[in-house]
Amino acid sequence: MKENKPVQKIFKGIAASEGIAIGKAFLVEREADLYIPLKKISKENVKKEVALYKESLEKTKKELLSAKERLLKALGKQHALLIDVYVGMVDDPLLTRDVVRMIEEDLVTAEYAVSVGLNRIIQSFEQIEDEYFKGRISDIRDVGRRLLRNILGKERKSLSDIQPNMIVIAHTLSPSDTVVLKEKKCAGFVVDIGSKTSHISLVAQGLQLPAVVGLKNITEIVEDGQDIIVEGNTGTVIINPDENTLNKYAKKHNEIVKEREYLIKLKDLPAETLDGHKVSIVCNLDSPQEIEEVLKSGAEGVGLFRTEFMYIERDELPKEDELFEKYYYTAEKISPYPIIFRTVDIGGDKLSKLGLEGLLPETSPALGLRGIRLALKYKDMFKTQIRAILRASVFKNTKIMFPLISSVQEFRLAKEVVEEVKKELLNRNINFDQNIKIGAMIELPSAALTSDIIAQEADFLSIGTNDLIQYTLAVDRMNENVADMYDPLHLSVLRLMKHVIDAGHSKGKHVSMCGEMASDISFTKVLLGMGLDEFSVPPALVLKLKKLIRGFVLSDAKELVNKIFNTNDRSDVIKILSEDENKNNKTS
Ligand code: PEP
Ligand code: MG
Repeated sequence: MKENKPVQKIFKGIAASEGIAIGKAFLVEREADLYIPLKKISKENVKKEVALYKESLEKTKKELLSAKERLLKALGKQHALLIDVYVGMVDDPLLTRDVVRMIEEDLVTAEYAVSVGLNRIIQSFEQIEDEYFKGRISDIRDVGRRLLRNILGKERKSLSDIQPNMIVIAHTLSPSDTVVLKEKKCAGFVVDIGSKTSHISLVAQGLQLPAVVGLKNITEIVEDGQDIIVEGNTGTVIINPDENTLNKYAKKHNEIVKEREYLIKLKDLPAETLDGHKVSIVCNLDSPQEIEEVLKSGAEGVGLFRTEFMYIERDELPKEDELFEKYYYTAEKISPYPIIFRTVDIGGDKLSKLGLEGLLPETSPALGLRGIRLALKYKDMFKTQIRAILRASVFKNTKIMFPLISSVQEFRLAKEVVEEVKKELLNRNINFDQNIKIGAMIELPSAALTSDIIAQEADFLSIGTNDLIQYTLAVDRMNENVADMYDPLHLSVLRLMKHVIDAGHSKGKHVSMCGEMASDISFTKVLLGMGLDEFSVPPALVLKLKKLIRGFVLSDAKELVNKIFNTNDRSDVIKILSEDENKNNKTS
């Protein structure tokens, strides 16, 4: 009898982090989603499942009560009382009544029964024409997620079970999950949601983990243990690859390994064009652990340290000493190379549970209180961070940069806070770099168009293309439905970039780029031709970029930019770039 071979299936998602991974699928069950697929259990498992449900209820309550205590200390009674409402929900018979019955009678998992219960409540609240009930829906979701996490996290598969060379398939992953994957030597990952510039993709790039995101429902298609190939460069996922495909990808994988060996030789050479124009290549950093990768990468410092890692996924604000310890560690490690601390950019997509007073869910968070706006509103929080950065500046390699600056006035206000903190430290005889350099991130069209004015008062500029593109084109960088409209080559974006670089240079200031566009090697020559001084990229990309830059001639790159600005059609831009790439390939 003929063996029934599984059929090869190919899926296309968004290319999030390059490289090839070949291995067995490790399916992580949906955690954050309230819709849990139906799973039946056997009669023998009913008791165990009911116990799991009850334990999770208790655990959730305990967690909430401990959060209440911390809130009470940090922000007072008013906020702490809110937690009582949450605890009340966990005890609500509306939720709990049916769960045990469903497990016992319908023979379903605890998480499925809970998700049905939760969704029933949500639907009934949605039908009530009352703002109070509508407002409670997000609370129910929060509590529900917490409860489900406790159920799933306990007995179900978790990331800690992953074996080396497996490929994780998940609905979504947090940046900290991604670090776990790297530690567990997982080969790559694939997720349902996300875009090329969502944080999970950026972290994957930093960790050199091949990844494809935005696959919508891949968790419902892939089965645990199936053979799978992930090609991060093209966003391709192949399930049950046949022998030909497997051989083809194994060969590609080998080539990548060989190229890596070649690139290592460039580590100590400068990023200099054939005609002697030198630029610098520095790294983006999302957590202090990644500094080891930066040190190995051949980069000349850190161009963007995203400091959010101490603020997200926690219930209380970080203390100054906690921050200082991490900042000092990183600054010392990278010294004498420079490190730019981007002050905290929470709000927007970087949701925080910090319980800041008056911080409510917003209809359009990306246009709301995030970045420097939030920092200026919660000034004590901001000052604590600035104090920690200044105290870590004793190696004299530390710089500060503010996110989401929209005008020179806002930049001034942020600088005033630094001045205030400096004075306080001086009064307390605390040592710090009194000449610390302060820069502005240019990631809003308003800042880009006034970058000449901002550059007069800033020590340097850094273009954050992830947000600059999002805000220029009105395309949510997290939304895969409009991901194809997220276009770095839109002439408006290119014009803004050139404008910022020229404006910075006209005031004698260094212009860096720390957004994703700096890491896309198909744009390197254009950025070089525009006059960009510094590329801040994930460690994995440093040598590749160096190799590329060392093969270019500056005057050639400038000519390419001229050609692009003489077109008025996107397809012409693409044509010019691909002709130029062909020409480069022939001569290299
Ligand atoms: C950017 O917007 O380009 C940027 C570098 O900042 P983040 O991705 O952290 O918003
Ligand atoms: Mg940004």
